[in-house]
Amino acid sequence: MEKKYSNRCYRCGKERVVVKTWKEDIGVSEVTVTQMICPDPECQKVVAKEIKAQADKARIMAKRREDKILGRRKPKKATTR
Ligand SMILES: [Zn+2]
Repeated sequence: MEKKYSNRCYRCGKERVVVKTWKEDIGVSEVTVTQMICPDPECQKVVAKEIKAQADKARIMAKRREDKILGRRKPKKATTR
């Protein structure tokens, strides 16, 4: 029996379509990566944009966290009173 998993678009709820699948070697084993997109091109555009924006945000957050850690290392001005 074939196990069918559904991957619906979180925006419009349409069943996503597979654009491509490829195998990726992650060191210990091989995994099959499936890239799926929304069948609605307009919707997919928005989704792709949101994913990109999210990735950018995560990158900025990571950078900020790094800056904060680095900033903390600097000696504070002595405020002994
Ligand atoms: Zn969609």
